[in-house]
Amino acid sequence: MTKKIKSLCAALLACCMICGCSGSEEPPVQNVPVRTESDVDSPDDENYIAQLTPGKDFYGYINAAEIMKMDLRQDQSYTGTWSMMIEESREHQNEIIKEIAGSDKEYAPGSNEQLIHDLYWQIYHMVENEKKDSEEEDTEFIEGFIKKIEAVTSTEELISLWHELASGSGLISFYSASVLNNAFDSSEKVLYFTFVPLTALDELKDNSVKATQSRDDFVSYLRLCGVPADEAKERATRLIYMYYELTGYCDPLMLSGEAELYDNFNILTREDCSSMLKNITFEQLIRSVGYDGKLPDKIVVGDPGQLVGADSLINSEHLREWKDVCLINLLKNYPILLPVKYSLVGFDGIDPESTALDYVRSFLNREISEIYAQKYFNERKREIISKMCDDMVAEYRRLINGADWLTDNGKAYLIQKLDNMKFFIGTDEPHEVDPADAEMIGSTLLKTVYNYDRISRQKGYNELFSGKPFNGFDGMTPSTVNACYIPAQNDVVITAAILNKRLFDEDADYAWNLGGIGSIIGHEISHAFDSYGVKFDAYGNYRPDAMPKEDIQAFKKLQDKAIAYYSKFKVLGSPLDGKLTLGENLADISGVQCALSIAGDLESKKTVFESYARWRIMLMTDIKAKEYLATDVHSPDSVRVNAVVPLFDEFYEIYGVKEGDSMYVAPEDRIRRW
Ligand SMILES: [Zn+2]
Repeated sequence: MTKKIKSLCAALLACCMICGCSGSEEPPVQNVPVRTESDVDSPDDENYIAQLTPGKDFYGYINAAEIMKMDLRQDQSYTGTWSMMIEESREHQNEIIKEIAGSDKEYAPGSNEQLIHDLYWQIYHMVENEKKDSEEEDTEFIEGFIKKIEAVTSTEELISLWHELASGSGLISFYSASVLNNAFDSSEKVLYFTFVPLTALDELKDNSVKATQSRDDFVSYLRLCGVPADEAKERATRLIYMYYELTGYCDPLMLSGEAELYDNFNILTREDCSSMLKNITFEQLIRSVGYDGKLPDKIVVGDPGQLVGADSLINSEHLREWKDVCLINLLKNYPILLPVKYSLVGFDGIDPESTALDYVRSFLNREISEIYAQKYFNERKREIISKMCDDMVAEYRRLINGADWLTDNGKAYLIQKLDNMKFFIGTDEPHEVDPADAEMIGSTLLKTVYNYDRISRQKGYNELFSGKPFNGFDGMTPSTVNACYIPAQNDVVITAAILNKRLFDEDADYAWNLGGIGSIIGHEISHAFDSYGVKFDAYGNYRPDAMPKEDIQAFKKLQDKAIAYYSKFKVLGSPLDGKLTLGENLADISGVQCALSIAGDLESKKTVFESYARWRIMLMTDIKAKEYLATDVHSPDSVRVNAVVPLFDEFYEIYGVKEGDSMYVAPEDRIRRW
């Protein structure tokens, strides 16, 4: 922790309110000096903090003293409630892993504990003996793949190879597929196909530097496979040319990621595919991703033009390039785990314990989450949060029905969404142990990760005809510190790990929890009704025209006001981008509005304001703050407090804030989400 860093908190407090003042042409700007290294720990700090009032800077009034005590470690560019909770969850998961790893119990095959135990020690030993024990076996393993790839002499064999690699080892070299809800009919699931290029095609298109870099990368991988230098360069260049050719078929909007929502959701039937594709059949395409189950009668692709292009390139002329894609892919995935002969990445100076913990947390997140939730989540928490969700839904019902700017049809549409919203709180029932999962742990770590890819892909595919709707926790595991709204399912997820004491304390006052986790639940529900969320109906179907046009227009007016309001805030001297942060800002206002309303009396509302401001505490370097200002769809936390609280009349009543105070916003400028 350096003094310089500490000084930055003061800069962040200075989210200057330059709106809402009346009476003068030049609005008063709250001038909080950006402190320098020399004056950080000077007595001025205390004076500065002592003279902060709710009317001057509510965020600072609540948090400044605490922020001045906070430290940033060498490896941190920010810290605050959120990052502390993430660290706590990681620590709790590490404790679980270490306890299981340290036990000599016999765990049931395929159980969470068996997988965690065995994977942990496999990684630990591999790091400890620097891959020496697995070197020979893994070299043979990789050479087996290379031989298979090199044995291919026709496009028919190539297509079979794609299937064999994907189905047998999870290695994907052409298209990949995942099971999603049909965007237009969520009662059905579909296989969504995505082309897997070795380099980003959009960057390649107009950037010769990127093309050269990619070619050089390809050369290094081919050299590892024993290809002589000149030949490797020639083959890598041809591969780049093949990708160039492919970009000619791609939809430019799709390539740049600017396509309209669900323009990238193109349903193709077997007939569509047989009329479009010349070199690969509908069935071969589906099998090429390693899908071995019952054939669906349709698939979905983002860009049909790209599929036609890829198909046109499956010919004997490009066979060498496609084989090289397979070779490069083989060495590109998990480079650190490969035997020394095939690896471009060094393997020294790595700590066995922390590496093992990191890998286990990442690969077995679902398994650890189940144990984590058993330990840190309980029925009492579920009860309180369920009640809070019910209260929030009731409050939203009141707000929507009371919104005079909405038409009756608009209201009915939103209320239907609200009625059908599903809440996933804490965790789900633990999955049933399948002894076959024990197969995941191979004789070497490299084989284990291949098994992992294969098994998890197959499990994903099994969902296609399972008839079970997606569970909210499929999108966010219980040990993840977060909450979300999933428009395509109309689900709200509140994980076990976000129900941390810093946001939710089962023994605390209900109002305190409303300002904490309640403001987040209210925020997430609000995403169901923002300009993106309303394009999905109560069942998660994409219906961009379902919301009446008049309502969209009326909402647009409200959005314009919010853009103007937030654009007047400055952080570190730069104005906030009200457009970029629009959706999140409105969700913040909505969340706090609900929490306040549910809280009831003024004393409870005061608790909501203060609990809300407190959990948004954050210390960040100015470089990070500048970076976030340009890219983050969320406003900085200081603004998420100081822009939101003065929008509510109760703020003035409770704290006696008056015209002329920096935080003051004139009644007519107090925007509302509803
Ligand atoms: Zn949000």
